[in-house]
Amino acid sequence: GKHYDYLLVGGGLFNGIIAHEAGKQGKSCLVVEKRSVLGGNIHCREVEGIMVHEYGAHIFHTSNREVWDYVSGLVEFNHYINSPVANYHGEIYNLPFNMNTFSKMWGIRTPQEAREIIESQRKVVSGEPKNLEEQAISQVGTDVYEKLVKGYTMKQWGRECKDLPASIIKRLPVRYIYDNNYFNDPYQGIPKGGYNGLIEKLYDGCDVILDTDYLEEKEELSGMADQVIYTGTIDSYFDYCYGKLEYRTLRFEHELLNESNHQGVAVMNYTDGETPYTRKIEHKHFDFGTQEKTVVSKEYPAEWTDGMEPYYPVNDEKNSALYARYQELGEKEEKVFFGGRLGEYKYYDMDKVIESALKFWREKLQDKEKQD
Ligand code: FAD
Repeated sequence: GKHYDYLLVGGGLFNGIIAHEAGKQGKSCLVVEKRSVLGGNIHCREVEGIMVHEYGAHIFHTSNREVWDYVSGLVEFNHYINSPVANYHGEIYNLPFNMNTFSKMWGIRTPQEAREIIESQRKVVSGEPKNLEEQAISQVGTDVYEKLVKGYTMKQWGRECKDLPASIIKRLPVRYIYDNNYFNDPYQGIPKGGYNGLIEKLYDGCDVILDTDYLEEKEELSGMADQVIYTGTIDSYFDYCYGKLEYRTLRFEHELLNESNHQGVAVMNYTDGETPYTRKIEHKHFDFGTQEKTVVSKEYPAEWTDGMEPYYPVNDEKNSALYARYQELGEKEEKVFFGGRLGEYKYYDMDKVIESALKFWREKLQDKEKQD
């Protein structure tokens, strides 16, 4: 059969960048993906003309000009700016916490008034915050904590804020200007028509095998290429020889509704403690859609068990130490490299994955070619 320069295990964003760079150098790639589509977690499924972010809402934002030029050179981005709203028992507040939020909450107008209220409420906590609740109140005061932080955080972690360590919350951003733009990055948007066009461009020219788990045909597939770039979970590659890494996951309930505009915003956070889901996403608003129907997805935090999608690594001491042992094994592999959020057991935003893949290509693969 045909022999390839690279076998790319996993068809997500990380390997997409490798595929694109390899293609530019005239190198050949074979992609093996266990799902029935390429794209990894940025894949969108079309329903009634609406691009549904099936594996979680994805908003592209970056401060890295090179990364922005790279992706926007491949596909056109729209002017979406993430401005989620919070729903607390039917009361609507703007996020992140800013003058619009405070004005609605207290009927005030000036930054001075907002500062005074928050300052007086922060004083409830004296000394070093002993848990997440005290940490949050010491930063944003009692009202913002009670309505916008408490229930949401409790649902996310499955425990009361009083029983969570203060360290989970580093800094809750508070803005004393009227500004609902969630991110501070200068570049932001969503590819027009969703992420699938970007994925198609990145993997253009590659041979692709779908619905195939590399680990079940490891020897045979690896034999088809000079080098292997593996973006699956690193512990599964080594047959869990040191034990299993842990992940956090989410459960999504997607619903097609017979109305054109359900909630008037792409992202609504449910910040009360009673509503069982944390967020409701209305996908068409990511793309300024005008379709007759709409698709909404409820997001439920869930305990991760075997067979569920591993979404977020749990970078606590135990898991980080376990990952370090797998990483050591990984470095001993001669022709296999590990990359991406599962291969490196690291939470990466899309722009960081692109940065990391470009760095990896330049330092590990391109240089190796030069040495040969
Ligand atoms: P993945 O996309 O996970 O790709 C890995 C691929 O490998 C998958 O397709 C998988 O099926 C395949 N695979 C695994 N094992 C095997 C195997 N044994 N054989 C064959 N194939 C295999 N980033 C942002 O910048 N903005 C956001 O708003 C944002 N929201 C997010 C929301 C959620 C819920 C999650 C989980 C992530 C979010 N991200 C966001 C991060 C973004 O998804 C990642 O940065 C990016 O998708 C990672 O790409 P990757 O290629 O490393 O991994």
